[in-house]
Amino acid sequence: MSAGIHLPAWGADGDFGSETLDGVLSFQRRAGLDADGVVGPATMAALHKAVGDATPNSVMRIINGVEVYDYRGQLAAPKNGKPEWGNRWPKFRGVVLHRTACRLGENPARYFRVNAHMHVTLGGRIILCHPWDMHIWHGHKMSLWGLGIEIDGNPEGFPGYHWKPGGGPDDVTDAQVKACDVLLDLLLEEFKVNGRPFDRVWAHRQGSENRECDPGWQAWQKIAVPWMERTGALPGDAGRQGDTYGTGFQIPQSWDPTSPTKGFRER
Ligand SMILES: [Zn+2]
Repeated sequence: MSAGIHLPAWGADGDFGSETLDGVLSFQRRAGLDADGVVGPATMAALHKAVGDATPNSVMRIINGVEVYDYRGQLAAPKNGKPEWGNRWPKFRGVVLHRTACRLGENPARYFRVNAHMHVTLGGRIILCHPWDMHIWHGHKMSLWGLGIEIDGNPEGFPGYHWKPGGGPDDVTDAQVKACDVLLDLLLEEFKVNGRPFDRVWAHRQGSENRECDPGWQAWQKIAVPWMERTGALPGDAGRQGDTYGTGFQIPQSWDPTSPTKGFRER
């Protein structure tokens, strides 16, 4: 709309409906692009240019059919980012998995200010926002040792128990699982290049009682467990049930059947 596209019937309602499609087509024609109705990198760049936006262009690559948008080094640090802490690679040894607890959607720009290094949309796009050597306070204590990954969607924390009513619950999609496979390959390569072991996959749950449902049973079963099996990584030194930090909780059996930790919400 800032680029002069009118959406008279519905306005900005967050849906890519017929009116938005018409708007995209007319913008593409005006900008001399292929009018295919798809907001790919060229259309996105033209939109940013049209609104005089300093928003950077991503380098978009497709790896194994997955779109990888890479903005590293081009964005302002997020609110809880601490670039002044210097290169954090010497401390990093894995990742912390999160879910957004809302639906940020498919537009990469929605993720630019989120306090995490990288994101996986429900549609299976990978968005790399911040340099991987940056300290970002995303996951309580584990932020010191792990890069932050936000998996979009409002999850069920435990089967039948919904964390944040008001939207969802959003299943972890097959596209997210596929994208996470690609993401793990990228991570393993970068850990290797930096001479660091990838021996930890943490759940945000382990760091705070306020995050007991984060990232939820589906993300753990479909993403963390296969990652741990592939890499030998663990959520801490206590085995697959993991360690706790601060007020956090271990990994429960409903998340990982090999964990001995049980009970409702399985603390
Ligand atoms: Zn989290």
